[in-house]
Amino acid sequence: MAPNVAPLLEAHLAPAALALAQRLGRTAFELGIQTYLVGGPVRDLLLGKPPRELDLAVEGDASALASRLAAAGETEVLMRSQFLTFKLRIAGIEVDLATARRERYASPGALPQVETAPIAEDLGRRDFTINAMAVALSPQRWGELLDPLGGQEDLARGLVRALHDRNFQDDATRILRGLRYEQRLGLRLEEGTERLLRRDVSFLAAISPDRLRHEVERILDEPAPERVFRRAQELGVLSAIHRPLRWEPGLQEATLRLRQRREAHPLAYLSLLAHSLTDEEAKGLVARLNAPVDWRRVVEDVGRLRGALSFLDDPGLRPSEVEAVLKEYAPPALEAALALEHRAHAQRWLQEYLTRLRYVRALLTGDDLLAQGVPAGPFLGRILDALHRARLNGETTSREEEVALVRRLVG
Ligand code: ATP
Repeated sequence: MAPNVAPLLEAHLAPAALALAQRLGRTAFELGIQTYLVGGPVRDLLLGKPPRELDLAVEGDASALASRLAAAGETEVLMRSQFLTFKLRIAGIEVDLATARRERYASPGALPQVETAPIAEDLGRRDFTINAMAVALSPQRWGELLDPLGGQEDLARGLVRALHDRNFQDDATRILRGLRYEQRLGLRLEEGTERLLRRDVSFLAAISPDRLRHEVERILDEPAPERVFRRAQELGVLSAIHRPLRWEPGLQEATLRLRQRREAHPLAYLSLLAHSLTDEEAKGLVARLNAPVDWRRVVEDVGRLRGALSFLDDPGLRPSEVEAVLKEYAPPALEAALALEHRAHAQRWLQEYLTRLRYVRALLTGDDLLAQGVPAGPFLGRILDALHRARLNGETTSREEEVALVRRLVG
């Protein structure tokens, strides 16, 4: 008999999500459709964690279910994609609804051809056994665990196991996914899976820049991205992404420092990853990831900063001088620079800039100056700059002092 995990659903789903899961199972059942919680949420439930999202698969017509839900109210269709996949918001909760399918890959890295299929086949096309389980939500089968590939046992043994030999060849983004699960969930790659991963690491070259960046982004959003990077370095994954990319052992400590001060911006980790690249190599990384402008700035700024920071190791600088230089750099790159910096004064200035100076604004605005009779034009701009500098340096602390400064400057 299939194991039943209803108590886990009831223990770990928030009350509203639980009620919704029951309602979805019932509504689908009335339409003759079977609904399952599938993939990540099932894995998380079995680990005793609240699921991060509600991913559902249906055997049958997902669009009929989506329409029935929409007709009953409280349901918004946020996204509808090809392959009968929907993102819905039902009573304020987001739900991913997919039609159970099989996929065929014409060539490595290509998008798969998709057909509808029973749930067992849908589970068979997934990446790892721990992600290839489903829980039935219909009233008759509520809580029934479908685990045709031994995910529960692998989870209990702490293993991330690929579903088959060509797992990483079919889709090399699974290499990065596997490392992410391993490190986030405290698991390890099953021995044979690690061998396959090492064998097929070069298939990452077939992954498009946008898909690759998406996976890197998911790593950056992890609570400890450095663990994934360290493992990726060990397995030759980083150099398969971009030949000169490496994660040096010393960076572990820098990431701890990064998080010690405050919550780190995810792109600060990217900056650390890029910190040993030359300008040319950094450009190569930007191209490989088709990096958007904020990523590009962070990757390129870390190199520009290397030479630029020695001036900061001076306790006698004025805050306005520090601000004038550091504002040219992306803050996540400065966070990374601070984590790497060992000189006491430079550290202090970076910290001061990141936590305070970059937010300082003069109290008077351009409109206030116009109202005081300052003519519009470059002179007004210079006065605003002077007000900003005075406030940074603590020379003015109130509106009255700023008004007085404007009078002096105009005079
Ligand atoms: P997370 O907890 O990080 O959100 P998740 O397991 O929910 O992870 P998603 O990327 O949301 O991961 O994918 C949902 C499910 O779809 C996975 O659990 C897995 O079963 C399947 N899946 C996603 N990407 C792939 C892939 N590239 N190859 C095979 N199966 C995949």
